[in-house]
Amino acid sequence: MSANALAISKGKVASIDYTLTDDTGKVLDTSKGGQPLTYLHGGQLIRGMEKALEGKAKWDALQIVIAPEDGYGVKNEEMIQTVPRKHFGEAKEIKPGMQFQANTPQGPRVVMIVDANDQTVTVDANHELAGVTLHFDVTVTDVRDATPEELAHGHVHGPGGHQH
Ligand code: ZN
Repeated sequence: MSANALAISKGKVASIDYTLTDDTGKVLDTSKGGQPLTYLHGGQLIRGMEKALEGKAKWDALQIVIAPEDGYGVKNEEMIQTVPRKHFGEAKEIKPGMQFQANTPQGPRVVMIVDANDQTVTVDANHELAGVTLHFDVTVTDVRDATPEELAHGHVHGPGGHQH
């Protein structure tokens, strides 16, 4: 990191290449083969990720291990519910692993089927990465100042961001 390299801090726009794996090394998500993730630093990414990237500069590479508490949260058992099969109406096939959009008091949410029989279906409304320790392999590919417009909108414009 050279002395005058821009460091990631609040109000900077950073681009990162990343690969996310779980405890077993299984790849859950990656930017490889696509565009780097470009974001406005200061609350857009999960907490553990922004904390680790703070102060980093272009071409810094880092490995980050993020506990569920600083990632997508711990699993909330109350968000796992068994409901009558008829709630799924016409759906012909309901199998563990399938995802449905459900309307909840907190708004539309993706729920995962964890169990199903002729009478009942058990759904899990936790984020699919809740309870997962996240292992990120990250390379910073760019850091720049956000434009006043980006700061006003609270998001990135241009490549990797909003096109408006
Ligand atoms: Zn905008």
